[in-house]
Amino acid sequence: MARHYDAIIIGAGIIGCATSLALGRKGWKVLNLDRLPAAGYGSTSGSCAIIRPYYSTLDGSAMAYESHFYWNNWADYLGGDDIDERGLIEYHNVGSLVMKTEANDYLRPTMALMDQLDSPYSEFTPEQIREKLPVWNTESFYPVKRPDDPEFGVANDEPLPGAVLFHAAGYISDPQLATHNIMRAAEIAGGEFQYNAQVVEIRRADGRVCGVILESGESIDAPVVLNAAGPHSSKVNQMADVEKSMQVKTRALRQEVAHVPLPDGYRRETACVTSDSDIGLYTRPEQGDALLIGSEDPPCDPHEWVDPDDYNKDFTEQWRVQVLRTCQRVPNLGVPNQMRGVVDLYDVTDDWIPIYDHSDLPGFYLAIGTSGNQFKNAPIAGELMADIIEATQKGNDQDANPIDFHLKYIDHTFSSGFYSRLREVNQDSSFSVLG
Ligand SMILES: Cc1cc2nc3c(=O)[nH]c(=O)nc-3n(C[C@H](O)[C@H](O)[C@H](O)COP(=O)(O)OP(=O)(O)OC[C@H]3O[C@@H](n4cnc5c(N)ncnc54)[C@H](O)[C@@H]3O)c2cc1C
Repeated sequence: MARHYDAIIIGAGIIGCATSLALGRKGWKVLNLDRLPAAGYGSTSGSCAIIRPYYSTLDGSAMAYESHFYWNNWADYLGGDDIDERGLIEYHNVGSLVMKTEANDYLRPTMALMDQLDSPYSEFTPEQIREKLPVWNTESFYPVKRPDDPEFGVANDEPLPGAVLFHAAGYISDPQLATHNIMRAAEIAGGEFQYNAQVVEIRRADGRVCGVILESGESIDAPVVLNAAGPHSSKVNQMADVEKSMQVKTRALRQEVAHVPLPDGYRRETACVTSDSDIGLYTRPEQGDALLIGSEDPPCDPHEWVDPDDYNKDFTEQWRVQVLRTCQRVPNLGVPNQMRGVVDLYDVTDDWIPIYDHSDLPGFYLAIGTSGNQFKNAPIAGELMADIIEATQKGNDQDANPIDFHLKYIDHTFSSGFYSRLREVNQDSSFSVLG
């Protein structure tokens, strides 16, 4: 006889685990299935795990600001500080220093959003930037170029006018451990996890979802199935035949993140996350005395859309491009011969805003399109998904009447219609990983 659950979640990444925890706390019997051997081994494991409150939209920023409090009160969220034999993650709440540039309108719109949300920040002069980050060069090189451009590395006449330090920001020590923490909490709430279990078919009966079939041939029953398959989301949507009717779709984007030795003079005590649209990069300190360098996807870099089952997992010239761009900002940064870091995938929507929604197939739900920027939001996304699923299963029409969601720490309510699969592409988005 087939096993039966209240809900099956495809994926045990941070989004799938957080949704399992939230549904478990509502009393649901949940099974997470993952094709990989453990929780958080998919794209979550490659995450830079940066926490920051600024997005391009008010609702996006509100959820991100709220997430800071979840990470700061991690044991409360999990239900105890002894729930995981591997220990709990650390949130390094070091702030994020964002350079004021032409590309971000010198952060005027961002500061206006932070004012609306009462999210604290401090404006920095170039001198204060150099005090905090002594190795930082505050010249401007905008627009972002590739190293083969003859103007690459040539500073503009005007230096950067300054930066803004956002205080509700930092990074998580270990994104995979964060997922393991949530998975253990979900197990305490009654959740089950099955690994090396690839879903190959979404089953239907009477026009509704009724379960899944695994590669092993096993059939499992559930009236609710959630697609939390990360960069494989589009493939899973195709299995369920729900993609055609979606206004906003998802696809996998290849990314390279460089880890290079910290330059001499980099002071870990005052270091923070940096975001720099002048050179198209973000950085943060990484374990092992390294500097982590990620791309903000400047227009001069081609997007590499890939098949998540068949892409190049080796570093390419892009790794060197990112390191050389950083050398503009940090002139004494060495460029090692050995490339280290991460090659992984984002699951990107047309407007780089995720989809948290139901679908046209009753009982089939979507927590996808996290666009390189939803690690931080996962605990809230899980609770939002659990509320959407519960309300929809009780008969609410999520398209006509999307539920409201209250962010308890910052006392802000937003409509979940913001994350609808049927939305018009949101023109307020940055159309980049910045969301
Ligand atoms: C390089 C990089 C840097 C990032 N940096 C940041 C950052 O600094 N801050 C931030 O907030 N966000 C960041 N992100 C984004 C964040 O990490 C993701 O939004 C988040 O981890 C996505 O989690 P997920 O659970 O949706 O996906 P995943 O972790 O990919 O989990 C999906 C799971 O589904 C499984 N799966 C897929 N198909 C099937 C199937 N058919 N059957 C069974 N299982 C299946 C996979 O094996 C996988 O484990 C970054 C992402 C990357 C790649």
